[in-house]
Amino acid sequence: MTLLFLVLTGFIPMTGNPPGLNYGTAPELTDYASGIPVITYHQITLHKSAYSATPAKLRDDLQRLYDAGFFLILPTDIEDGLGRVPFDRRPIMITFDDGWEDNFRYIDMPGGEQRIDPDCAVAIVNTFIEEHPDFGRGVVFFISWDKIPFGNHTEEKLNAVLDMGHCIGNHSEDHLAFAKIPPSRYWEQVIPALNSFQRRLGLRTSGINVFAYPGGQIPRGVNAEGTIASMEFQGRPAVIQGYLVDGAVGSLKRVYEGNEFRISRIDMALYTVPRLLNWSNIMVESNARPSLHDDLPWRPTYIHSD
Ligand SMILES: [Zn+2]
Repeated sequence: MTLLFLVLTGFIPMTGNPPGLNYGTAPELTDYASGIPVITYHQITLHKSAYSATPAKLRDDLQRLYDAGFFLILPTDIEDGLGRVPFDRRPIMITFDDGWEDNFRYIDMPGGEQRIDPDCAVAIVNTFIEEHPDFGRGVVFFISWDKIPFGNHTEEKLNAVLDMGHCIGNHSEDHLAFAKIPPSRYWEQVIPALNSFQRRLGLRTSGINVFAYPGGQIPRGVNAEGTIASMEFQGRPAVIQGYLVDGAVGSLKRVYEGNEFRISRIDMALYTVPRLLNWSNIMVESNARPSLHDDLPWRPTYIHSD
């Protein structure tokens, strides 16, 4: 019955006002609750701006997401059919865009030592997941090269982020809005950024294959996805997943049906966790399966029909 209700309501939030779609695209219908929230932050700072969140809000959001039964996934989990997500948790992906210094900052200590600022994004996330090991581990940092990623010590910080178990994504070389440049120019933004990663990360660059579109959008009707899918870097696809910012919770089914270049994200500078929980398509919380042979309650059956 619940499922039927979710089917009938599709992507429409069940209570309250519909979410503010500051980036435009209307939600689309899905036929079961397969939504994976992918949320994004930019700057984590006390200085208020349209794209910032405070360290306190980030900590509070993590706690609320944990309490609501979510489990951190990375882009590789989408490729793997979410097999790593425990049976009593439901998936969410957390991303940070642009590579601001307040995402990963060192502070100087007396005696010349450096330590990670406890109020920067990576420290807040690491502290939370150490205290809550069943939250999973790993968030995505989408890095653009229009400024010095993480402000300084870029090579060291990029490697440290990977050592910590997080993921690095490509957010372009110059941060030009993809909705405003023709697809023929996308490669000028995707490939030079990969070369920039290569100079700092060497072989580890082979794992950088997800892309967040600067400006949050790509146009429709001009084969933008096809252009992105066709790009190669050192003999492998340069991009296997593309992330929008469209204020929606994307459907897992649509991702697997070929929409891996239009994965929806919600900007948490404009959104709250309680509002996120109003989306009717997000997977159910903490329903243990009756027997080991049953499908996990939040996994679409057809993915596990073997
Ligand atoms: Zn950006």
